[in-house]
Amino acid sequence: MRLDNPVEIAEDIYWVGNKIANDPFQCHVYLIKNGKESVLIDPGSRITYQETRRKITKLVELNDIKYFICHHQDPDIVGCMYDILDEIDSRNKYLVTHWRAWALLKHYNWNISLYEVEENGWTLIAGDRKLRFIFTPYMHFPGAFCTYDKKTHVLFSSDIFGGFTDELELFSKDAEDYFKKMKPFHEHYMPSNVILNHGLNRIEQCYPIELIATQHGSIIKKEHIKPIIANLRKLKCGLFGDYVDTKEIIALSELNSALNDIINIVAYDENFFDIIHKIITALNKFYSIEYIRAYVADDDEENILVMDSEEKSIKIIDDKIKTRNMLNACCYLKNGGVFYNSNSLHSMFNIKDKSYTFPIKDKQDKYHGVCFIVFNYSNVNNLSSYLEVMSKFEIPISMAVLKQKHLFSLENQNKKLYEESIKDQLTGLYNRKYMNMFACQELSRSKRFNQTLSVMMIDIDHFKKINDTFSHQAGDVVLQKIAATIRNIIRSTDMPIRYGGEEFVLLLPDTTKDNAYKAAEKIRKAVENTTVNFGENKIKCTISIGVASTEDSANSIEHLILIADNRMYKAKESGRNTIVVE
Ligand code: GH3
Ligand code: MG
Ligand code: MG
Repeated sequence: MRLDNPVEIAEDIYWVGNKIANDPFQCHVYLIKNGKESVLIDPGSRITYQETRRKITKLVELNDIKYFICHHQDPDIVGCMYDILDEIDSRNKYLVTHWRAWALLKHYNWNISLYEVEENGWTLIAGDRKLRFIFTPYMHFPGAFCTYDKKTHVLFSSDIFGGFTDELELFSKDAEDYFKKMKPFHEHYMPSNVILNHGLNRIEQCYPIELIATQHGSIIKKEHIKPIIANLRKLKCGLFGDYVDTKEIIALSELNSALNDIINIVAYDENFFDIIHKIITALNKFYSIEYIRAYVADDDEENILVMDSEEKSIKIIDDKIKTRNMLNACCYLKNGGVFYNSNSLHSMFNIKDKSYTFPIKDKQDKYHGVCFIVFNYSNVNNLSSYLEVMSKFEIPISMAVLKQKHLFSLENQNKKLYEESIKDQLTGLYNRKYMNMFACQELSRSKRFNQTLSVMMIDIDHFKKINDTFSHQAGDVVLQKIAATIRNIIRSTDMPIRYGGEEFVLLLPDTTKDNAYKAAEKIRKAVENTTVNFGENKIKCTISIGVASTEDSANSIEHLILIADNRMYKAKESGRNTIVVE
């Protein structure tokens, strides 16, 4: 679209603005061509006037403009009145505004009469043009208003539908897209959603609206008006009004919506690694994030749990002193976050890049650890301007980390309880309960794969004598030592069970009786060669072993164990410290 000529946007209504270079804050001026009663709307500034004047004079004489509507009193609207008044005969010409604006504008001491909208019943009749004024106080200014042209149904909205556009886009292209451009404008300048909705209610009394001619941003086409108003009604206003150092308001606005998404994710998602992945995706729209890594103390404050966005599971640093040091150091981290590249925590965890670093705290302000959001710093211009928004990510990330820590500790407790329930406390071998649960499965698995399952019954020889000679405690130590000896010899797939007081059962999947015998011999020898030191005493002992396998045509675990048990007794009868396989 050519913008070096006036653009007719409705019958006899022209855009007579101009493009301001390198400015997302374009200012528009409109002319209602109406013979000697022409109307200029939001005349413009001393920067834009010459170009606006050139366009106006293609349509009407400057002196044909009878009304200068100023929706409020900012310099980008009234600045050019100096130049206009220099050129025209101001008799019978009017500056149309609200008295609150005039209370200020009168100080310019311009030689022009006031047409005060309130006193004139909020209307202006200019020839056959009837304009209605809509009072929208506190939308930008306590005296702000809009103008509605009854003939063409064009609404001149001043600031309310303003937006930031990278380049001059005279017409809105898409409702969603233009709303995105409006959002930062209102999140910054509009103090409250109540005021915004109040103004929108008044504006909607003017339907039909064919076109909204804004003072900033783009002219809104009819089909975009209702969806934009619906979105505006829900907009959170005044979010960034008191932020310091925040010129990058478009990025801030988008970060804010990312943050809202993230709060939902943290509330509903279970897994830290999924949550952190989504957070990085959201943040990466604006920054280049290398990774997010959190270090938190476990419940006993003995280990550090490491949660890293680049890993799928928690890693553990087993170091009590480091855990203590971390907790001490993170107390000194500033809340509200700081972009560091050197503090004691960075060196403690070998974080070399600049990061946004904050303490992980719970609701009671107890410190649990530290989180690093590590940036690709070369892609970020002015980190300090993002501090306030980044600080808002601290709570959702902390929530996700603490939730994962809690889950991790529950899983560990469950694991511990389960381990305890299936293991014998004295020897650490599996107990009979575990054997009953899994031995049958092991047997049917062997049958399915056509493999041999072997079983050993191991009994300590003359164990009673060891107890009687050296004490029951000495007997316990001997039991532990023999259990450890068995465990060291067998394969990881073999299942060692403490079957009774001094009896052990070994299940050997995929093992022929021959091989089971070889294993039994190894164990027998190893025990024979073991000396248990108990105080001054050096205790020696031996074992007797019975071996059975599915080759013995046993069809249940009980049967297999019975055969092995009988053979173990045979071994006892034949002098002990021996193995019987037949
Ligand atoms: P044999 O060579 O015929 O097997 O003789 P033995 O003395 O080993 O057999 P017996 O069955 O007569 O004795 C087993 C002893 O094991 C009896 C019991 O007090 C002891 N015992 C069982 N459980 C434990 C335990 O947990 N700790 C200790 N120290 N002794 C145990
Ligand atoms: Mg015994
Ligand atoms: Mg026994």
